[in-house]
Amino acid sequence: MWPLRSSWLLAAILVAAASSLGAFWMAITIYLPNPGPPPPVIGASPIAGLKASDLHESFKEIHHGHRHEAIDIMKPYGTPVHAVVDGTIRKLFVSRAGGTTIYQFDTNGNYCYYYAHLDRYADGLHEGMSVERGQIVGYVGTSGNAAPGAPQLHLAIMRLGPDKRWWQGIPIDPYPVLVSFLEKSSG
Ligand SMILES: [Zn+2]
Repeated sequence: MWPLRSSWLLAAILVAAASSLGAFWMAITIYLPNPGPPPPVIGASPIAGLKASDLHESFKEIHHGHRHEAIDIMKPYGTPVHAVVDGTIRKLFVSRAGGTTIYQFDTNGNYCYYYAHLDRYADGLHEGMSVERGQIVGYVGTSGNAAPGAPQLHLAIMRLGPDKRWWQGIPIDPYPVLVSFLEKSSG
């Protein structure tokens, strides 16, 4: 047998303690949620005269085989759609599911606001353009996979990653954000 000296034993205990403390701090660093940017805010209603009671929570519903991760606001065809925050039109994109869509970044590039199923864009809207909250950016429609008789605005909010990819972000439920704005603004 190897002679067991108490000084070796002490050294071994110290090394084990130091490495487990390191592992502990590493675990804290990895598992504590990244504080990230402040939560998203809506600064203007996407639809004039909208009331909280018009809205229906559907973030977790399954639509077309996917978690919805957005809100649908049912409004007559051609109703103007307003930018909900100040920011920049990052991408105008036509997709099979979303139809005619807008990806708008907020001023800080923390969040992307996505408007879908539009009938058309506001005249002159283009990528890279600055827009102010309340400005008309498009009109309600049924483009993409919206049911033909059910014109609606599909509104989503995504938290952008460090690379600011317009098509990629963490979905944030827009329902409480919009309800909070509407309740405050209705006084
Ligand atoms: Zn939708």
